[in-house]
Amino acid sequence: HASQAAPAPAEAPQLPPFDYTPPPYTGPPKEEVLALRKKFLNPAIFHHFKQPVMIVDGKMQYLFDETGRRYLDAFGGIVTVSVGHCHPEVNAAVIEQTQRLQHTTSIYLHHQIAEYAAELAAKMPGNLKNVYFVNSGSEANDMAMMMARLYTGAHDIITLRNAYHGLSEATMGLLGQHTWKFPVPQGAGVHHALNPNPYRGVFGNDGPAYARDVADLISAATPGRVAGFIHETVQGVGGAVPLADGYLPAVYKTVREAGGVCIADEVQTGFGRTGSAYWGFQNQGVVPDIVTMAKGIGNGLPLAAVVTTPEIAQVLASRLHFNTYGGNPVSCAAGRAVLRVVENEGLQQNCADVGGHLLLKLRALQAKHSIIGDVRGMGLMVGVELVKDRDTKEPAVHETAVVFERCKDLGLLLGKGGLYGNVFRVKPPMCWTHADVDFLAAVLDQALSEL
Ligand code: PLP
Repeated sequence: HASQAAPAPAEAPQLPPFDYTPPPYTGPPKEEVLALRKKFLNPAIFHHFKQPVMIVDGKMQYLFDETGRRYLDAFGGIVTVSVGHCHPEVNAAVIEQTQRLQHTTSIYLHHQIAEYAAELAAKMPGNLKNVYFVNSGSEANDMAMMMARLYTGAHDIITLRNAYHGLSEATMGLLGQHTWKFPVPQGAGVHHALNPNPYRGVFGNDGPAYARDVADLISAATPGRVAGFIHETVQGVGGAVPLADGYLPAVYKTVREAGGVCIADEVQTGFGRTGSAYWGFQNQGVVPDIVTMAKGIGNGLPLAAVVTTPEIAQVLASRLHFNTYGGNPVSCAAGRAVLRVVENEGLQQNCADVGGHLLLKLRALQAKHSIIGDVRGMGLMVGVELVKDRDTKEPAVHETAVVFERCKDLGLLLGKGGLYGNVFRVKPPMCWTHADVDFLAAVLDQALSEL
């Protein structure tokens, strides 16, 4: 089956060597899959690529299309494939569990779920010891909001502009990005504070100044007491935006003074991805009251969790609460393998090392290409924002789409996002190497030079 991708020219950057050949693809041709998808699935998804790519195999940091062509994965299945595609230890754990028992109900004891909860709790600071398993980031954040409201007896929740916490009805209300909003009722009692974005925010990198906005918001727009505050630690869908320095300690103090609990959404940032810490919130020295996690937790299997303190967990003790698939033994087996692999393969340290190299390479490209307005991030959670003019910061939306497609044709699969769709998101599997970074930089350089 011929690939529709424009062929890479002979002088194009070459991928690092990799000793793996996927089995031959035996499914229907790409054109047929495309036609089925357009007819039976949401066709809107194709706004990303003019010429969609079909991926049929994955091995560690690489993906393969139906022709066997290899691509470097810079997006990790939207930050879900934390330790690498089809990592052998995750595969082995899943296969072993799937052959014994795939699912029952949480009314029976199962060792995978209990041991996994204990292992996850051991990774948490402070008194964050009670674990609830669900299946997606949206569900986890729904539950966190409910816990905050039950625990405090208050209703109002503070979220951030440019936030993304999911697309359930409740979490869509938390969203601070017009792109993902549908005109349906949502967000009762939710208030959007200023985004502490060091590049575009009104107070630059002054975290405490943005926290004062939250104090003002609480006194102006709530009864004075709030249920909680929810935040990402590096905004993911919003374009890999780190929070301004000193923001979290100041805003946590303000929110707690108003009776609220602090909820950290670690759906994209946890498990060492930011390099300098295991959890993103640790980069600003705070300990939340509730932490939500999903995506990379199960290396792509449907798994998510809410972790909180015994005091807050009490609010669910007197009522029935359950989730059919949450804590499925197969997903838990994958989750346990992820914890082991991150530890045994030193992936947090790898994110720090390779991420440091990535920032250096990207800053060198920024010095060469004036269209790169901002390079930012931590570890392997990095954003590259394209602007038409560095002074006005007008988003270079069309150019971003062109470069995004060209990188794909050259063998690099980036993520794209941000409020205006002008940010490349580099959030690869955490096993990336320096050679992968060099390939990314060479491809991006070529695609930007061709603009
Ligand atoms: N929270 C964050 C930070 C996310 O990035 C996402 C998804 O992109 C979610 C929550 C929602 O997760 P899910 O799509 O699994 O519901």
